[in-house]
Parts: sequence; C-alpha cells; structure tokens
Amino acid sequence: MAYRVEQECPQCGAPVELEETDRLIQCPYCLVKSFIFTPDHFRFVLPRKAERERTIYAPYLRFKGAVFFCVDQTIGYRVVDINHAGSSFNGLPVSLGMRPQALKMRYLSPTEESILLKVEMKPSDILKRAANLSSGSGPGQVFHRVFIGEALSVIYLPLFLKGNRLFDGVLDRPLTELSHGGEEIDAATRLSSRWGLTFIPTLCPGCGWNLDGERDSVVLFCANCESAWKASKGKFIRMDFGTDSSKDPDAVYMPFWKMAGRVQGLEIESFADYVRITNQPVTAGESRRDKAMYFWVPAFKIRPKLFLNLARHFTLAQLEANPKPIVPAKHRHPVTLPLSEAEQAVKITLAGSAMNKKELFPRLPGIRFEPGRSRLIYLPFRETVHDLIQEKTNAAINKNALAFGRSL
Ligand SMILES: [Zn+2]
Ligand SMILES: [Zn+2]
Repeated sequence: MAYRVEQECPQCGAPVELEETDRLIQCPYCLVKSFIFTPDHFRFVLPRKAERERTIYAPYLRFKGAVFFCVDQTIGYRVVDINHAGSSFNGLPVSLGMRPQALKMRYLSPTEESILLKVEMKPSDILKRAANLSSGSGPGQVFHRVFIGEALSVIYLPLFLKGNRLFDGVLDRPLTELSHGGEEIDAATRLSSRWGLTFIPTLCPGCGWNLDGERDSVVLFCANCESAWKASKGKFIRMDFGTDSSKDPDAVYMPFWKMAGRVQGLEIESFADYVRITNQPVTAGESRRDKAMYFWVPAFKIRPKLFLNLARHFTLAQLEANPKPIVPAKHRHPVTLPLSEAEQAVKITLAGSAMNKKELFPRLPGIRFEPGRSRLIYLPFRETVHDLIQEKTNAAINKNALAFGRSL
C-alpha cells in the first residue's frame, strides 16, 4: 500500500497531503504546482506522539516493488513490500510493523535539530531480503532476477531517551535500557543529514507554459509547444516522444517505451535475430523480419503478470506506428514507470518471449542489454466496459489492473 506524506507547499507553506508515489504536488491554497525531485532515495520521518525530549531517529530501509525471476523453465513474479531496521543499534524493533500505515509521514528535513543513527544496511541487503521472500520456494536455479518499478526509501523511526531508557517515540513505549545512555547514542549517530528535496516549478523550459501531468507522473508534457520532459539532476530534460493518433475521438492513449539497443551475449540486432533466438513460430512478424529490433515495454505500472504479457506482446508485434510529436489532448494515461526501469525489463521480456526456455534460460546470466536510442510512444486503445483494447494488435489491458497499478 502507498503511505501518506504531509509536506509544506514550497511556495506558501500550507500543508499538502500526498501519497509517497506522488511526484507532482499541487497546493490546494495557492494552486502552485511543483515537481518533487531527489537524486537518490526518498527519506521519510514518522511523527512523534509527543514532542518533549530531543529526538533520535533510527533508519529503516524499505523496498516496495515487483520482483521477477526465472527459475528452471518458468518465470515467477511477486509484489513485495518490506522494511527492516537499517541500524544494528541494540533494542530497535526489527521492522516498523503497521506504524507507517496508520500515520502520516513527512520528508526528512536537512535542517532539523535531530540525531540520526547511521544507516549500516546497504540497499543491496534489503533487495536480497526482497529476493528471498519472492523466490524462496523450491530448489530450482535462479537464472535471472530483476526488480522493476521499485521504490527504495529510508523511513526514520523517532526515539527518545529518558535517563538511560530508550523509548519508541511513535508508541511512547520503552524499547531498551542503555548501560551508557547518551554516550552509546553518540557513538552510533551522525548529526543531521545533507539530504534534501528539490522542488522544480512545473514550467516548460521550452516555452514557459505550464507543464501537464498527474500526481504520479514521471514525465510531464507541454501542450503549447508539444514537448515532453523528465526530471534529472534537479531540472527538466527534454524527451523524445510521439503519438500514434487515432480517428476515434474517445481513444485512450497508453504510453510505452520503444527501446533500441544491443543484447550482448546473444547478438540480437534485427527482429529476425530475435525471432530465431527466442524460437518463435516461423510466421511471427514475417514481413518485419529484417527490420531493426525494438523492445516495447509499458511506461506505466501494472500488475507484474500483465506487465510482462504486454511487454512480450508489443515486442513481438513490432508495431510500425507512425507517431507524431503531438501530446494527446485527452484520455492520456500518465507515464509512471521511468525509462531506466523499462531498460531493466528487457531481459525478462526476452525470457518471457522465449519458446525455448530450457536452452535460453541458462544463458541469461551472461546477457546484458546495452540501451540505444529510445522513445516514448503513446498508442491508442478503444475503451470497453472492462478493458482497453489496442486498435492495431487487439491487446487488452484490464482497467481494474490498471487502477491497481497506480498504487504500486
Ligand atoms: Zn501553496
Ligand atoms: Zn512548452
């Protein structure tokens, strides 16, 4: 589930409530929109029950996302949401339990007068735990494992000292007795952090117009100069995009990453190579065999099974769209999965397409995708009661699964 966060509007200081997956915040008072940017992980703080003694903060590493893995001749997937104490300080609860679900968090402020316990756990350690949770069953060899659409964050649990007793500041309950009190804390802490959020005003760098997006969008659009932008290093960078326009005025446009690149270790350069190496039936994409190869991966979060099905389907379809750099005026699904995540999905897409899993899977550890030019493509879908149906390939996306994906 998505946790709630309270943040002050960078313009007027009014409190704004958001979900942890939100990137675009709009202040309900001054209406100013800002894009939230962090160069690495988001850092949150749980609120104290009562503010009296000085607060000490204990870090918890949190992973939420989809894990895909290739075991024996099958592909497994699971959505994982775990957290674990990131400090080995004596007496800390192993995990945060239900605390974050019941409370509103806020972003860690770099200026606050506080003490942070050092983060000793490495991000790879929490990923390892997530991996063990997801594919701990059975003795099969894991040939490939990947985390897609994941959020890795640090959540700080407030603690305080009364004499030599260390208390949980959320529950106001004692955790442990310290033999050397404050000295022990001093040895395990560092003062304040340099970490801080950047708020980027959502103005188009190309023309100064307001950029459009939804709260969980990672790509924003300018309808005035028809451009697309993502945040990088605290500013907006232009992205290559196109829309395969439909004659249907009610078409729903869904975003995909169309990625060129080389699959090293398998020497896939053309679609013919892909068809051969994944052992597709001879008729697959007959007319497109000699064309360059593109991987198509959803640019939106959705249940893992559907994500993989769509990536496989559109990669095998090799749609010859003729997209134009026009922002769909309405019914445009937000881009919620960044390109960097889509690139990581290439190997699992390849594995998912393979008809010869027995031969191909053992080769997966030696394969690497080297990204080339990529483009964001909006494809038109026809809306029915339960599904969205792609106009050219008839691929279906279940609308409930899509709604569920927004909270992943
Ligand atoms: Zn405001
Ligand atoms: Zn513009």
